[in-house]
Amino acid sequence: MTIQVCGHSNPDTDSVAAALAYAVLSTAMGDDAVAVMQSTPDKLNPESTVVLGKFGLTAPAEITDAAGKKIALVDHSDIGQAPANIKDAEVVAIVDHHKLGDITTNNPILINCQPVGCTCTVLNEMFKMNNVAIPKDIAGAMLAAILSDTVNFKSPTCTAKDKAAVADLKVVSGVDDTDGLFMDMLKAKSAVAGVPAQDLLFRDYKDFDMNGKKVGVGQLELATLDQVADIRDDLLKAMQDTKADGRHTVLLMLTDVVKEGTDLLVVSDEPAEIEAAFGGKLEGVSFWVDGMMSRKKQTVPNLQKQFGC
Ligand code: MN
Ligand code: MN
Repeated sequence: MTIQVCGHSNPDTDSVAAALAYAVLSTAMGDDAVAVMQSTPDKLNPESTVVLGKFGLTAPAEITDAAGKKIALVDHSDIGQAPANIKDAEVVAIVDHHKLGDITTNNPILINCQPVGCTCTVLNEMFKMNNVAIPKDIAGAMLAAILSDTVNFKSPTCTAKDKAAVADLKVVSGVDDTDGLFMDMLKAKSAVAGVPAQDLLFRDYKDFDMNGKKVGVGQLELATLDQVADIRDDLLKAMQDTKADGRHTVLLMLTDVVKEGTDLLVVSDEPAEIEAAFGGKLEGVSFWVDGMMSRKKQTVPNLQKQFGC
């Protein structure tokens, strides 16, 4: 049976590139494997669409149900992020860079999970270990995935291995200007024209329980804050509406990836607590936090500390 290689739901560039790459590697190793994704090609996010177009790759076909199939998981190992009925599939491999999830199997499987910035960094090493050449177009997508996941090396999740993998993949893909590639991806990802403010707030949004207080944190990664200058009032209105729905605080991180910091929009019952969490002072409805890039590693831990979690 053909192995279907699948990334997580709501796929990002790593989930798509890693699926394509692992399908190539598995096929080269003698298995019959094909990449799939949990999205239709027309619903794929703008960044991944740009990446596939740039390197002349066709988007993988959609998978909606895993029952009865042979599956290799990339970029996740959580049942909640896998295709429906993953418990009724035969999972044969996991290649990932997140905390280990809750997938279990009846048979021994191949697992390669490493604490690095991107699944494609792990895969680059697997190609090397197995002496399989990476096709030029696949190398381009893998390179783009590493730049995306590590925010062009600026994320605290980035490791020396990620940088070394990019150096390898630059040669194979023929991409010289990785900063230029990253900016093209960022522009696609951060395009806000015509998108309703509520959708922008929820594009990358999570609610957290902070000692009994519900705190929502959204993030928009931008090439420049100018991109949202005209819609700040609309975003604020969307945040106020969202807060009115039983929340103590709603924050929106407007992250300037070039300047490496975040303009933090704040709507809160206790704004002084938010100021204290980040050592900032509100000017109107926001303040700048230098170096703040990661919700997971920076914003949430500071809030948890402040709220006594
Ligand atoms: Mn991912
Ligand atoms: Mn990833």
